Amino acid sequence: MSSTKFDVIVVGSGPGGYVAAIRASQLGLKTAVVEAAELGGICLNWGCIPTKALLKSAQVFEYINHAADYGITVKDASADFTGIVKRSRGVADGMSKGVTFLMKKNKIEVIKGWGKIQPGKKVEVTDSEDKKTVYAADNIIIATGARSRELPAMKIDKKKILGYRDAMVLDKMPKKMVVVGSGAIGIEFAYFYATMGAEVTIVEFLDRIVPVEDAEVSKTLEKLYKKAGMTIMTSSEVTAVDTKGAGCKVTVKTAKGEETLECDVVLSAAGVVSNLENIGLEDVGILVDKGKIKVDEYYKTNMPGYYAIGDVIPGPALAHVASAEGIICVEKIAGQNPDPLDYGNIPGCTYCSPEIASVGMTEAKAKEAGYELRIGKFPFSASGKASAAGAKDGFVKLVFDKKYGELLGAHMVGYNVTEMIAEIVAIRKLETTGHELIKTVHPHPTMSEAIMEAAAAAYDEVIHL
Ligand SMILES: Cc1cc2nc3c(=O)[nH]c(=O)nc-3n(C[C@H](O)[C@H](O)[C@H](O)COP(=O)(O)OP(=O)(O)OC[C@H]3O[C@@H](n4cnc5c(N)ncnc54)[C@H](O)[C@@H]3O)c2cc1C
Repeated sequence: MSSTKFDVIVVGSGPGGYVAAIRASQLGLKTAVVEAAELGGICLNWGCIPTKALLKSAQVFEYINHAADYGITVKDASADFTGIVKRSRGVADGMSKGVTFLMKKNKIEVIKGWGKIQPGKKVEVTDSEDKKTVYAADNIIIATGARSRELPAMKIDKKKILGYRDAMVLDKMPKKMVVVGSGAIGIEFAYFYATMGAEVTIVEFLDRIVPVEDAEVSKTLEKLYKKAGMTIMTSSEVTAVDTKGAGCKVTVKTAKGEETLECDVVLSAAGVVSNLENIGLEDVGILVDKGKIKVDEYYKTNMPGYYAIGDVIPGPALAHVASAEGIICVEKIAGQNPDPLDYGNIPGCTYCSPEIASVGMTEAKAKEAGYELRIGKFPFSASGKASAAGAKDGFVKLVFDKKYGELLGAHMVGYNVTEMIAEIVAIRKLETTGHELIKTVHPHPTMSEAIMEAAAAAYDEVIHL
């Protein structure tokens, strides 16, 4: 048993864990982080950051291939797939090193190894040489994250049936790929591989792609993806994958019957499952419900002194959510009185081209909730900046409550919209009404003018339509 006792031990160093540790240290708490793999978790090493690096390469390639649209001649552009993957890994490594620096700067002890919580507010850590050391703390935060969900019909073999990690580090470009699932992860990989030249088919169980988004966003993306050459099969289910031959034979059950698709690789992008196994939850008696650790609004589990944040608890599996939860959790531990997180005001972004960004209720959800609505929509085809940028696809759609002017939701698809959504999150937090938004001067020419114009459209005051 280590003689050092900590105020806080965080198990897992993803954007939930490392951010919680930094905030705890800022608040004067003696803090340690236990990490079995790379510092920074999935987000920095195998999620948000390396995928955005891959997507950037695809966007650069797309730009170059369309250089003539901008009056520029480029001859013989070709993509070096290995170089693209190498760049992505380099970006991820750099980010992980950044977390190492932040741990040092904030005097946080990094304990390398597999953490298992024990009764009596202890964590047993098994290092790479199988040596076990037990550490004690007044507060233990579980932040062990999540991994790819495996569908029964598609056992991930890392060669032909890929999880997201494998799809990030392929050693050669597949010619044909089937992407199963059209949430953010599936859609981003589909864009990446299609832009790099693969023949991509997306299979989605529900009746539209990006099914959590507003229906109009799904429709627009589907149209643009089809225009870009992708095949989209909705209301369809993969029932079997035969990997015995040179490639894969994918059996898909559709409304019209069964179809067989041939491809080199299949990407299983059907969501994630929380990492709850072999971390001591049963030994301590921590309650789990539907695959997630049960917590209250300050992330306390049913066992005093044990907390959980990020992808192991219910709520959207997003890096910024994990970080926000970590901060609230330790501020409460330190005796502060933070506001609980408003899960109704969490932005969600998909970084394909065009990008998708949204927050709050979709039109359908707002109607279901009984609101009478004012909808304002502004297409980028009417935006000066979008025209100049050659990015006229997409729109901003705002959903207002008719009675009080509350902005219930915002849904965007288009160039740069992932950078625009934070404005909406802020104005919703400040309870800004549609009238105030119309009177908020936006710089010209910017894509963000479309937000002001969409608000104006909701009140029949739109100028540029
Ligand atoms: C391909 C992909 C793209 C994504 N893109 C985005 C995006 O653009 N934006 C966004 O917001 N979210 C994105 N996400 C989701 C985001 O990565 C997660 O929501 C986020 O990483 C969750 O953070 P976390 O701290 O809960 O856990 P994680 O980041 O999963 O970190 C958990 C850490 O705990 C460690 N660990 C697990 N068990 C133990 C143990 N017993 N002992 C010690 N260490 C342990 C793991 O090694 C890992 O480092 C993406 C995810 C994927 C897979």
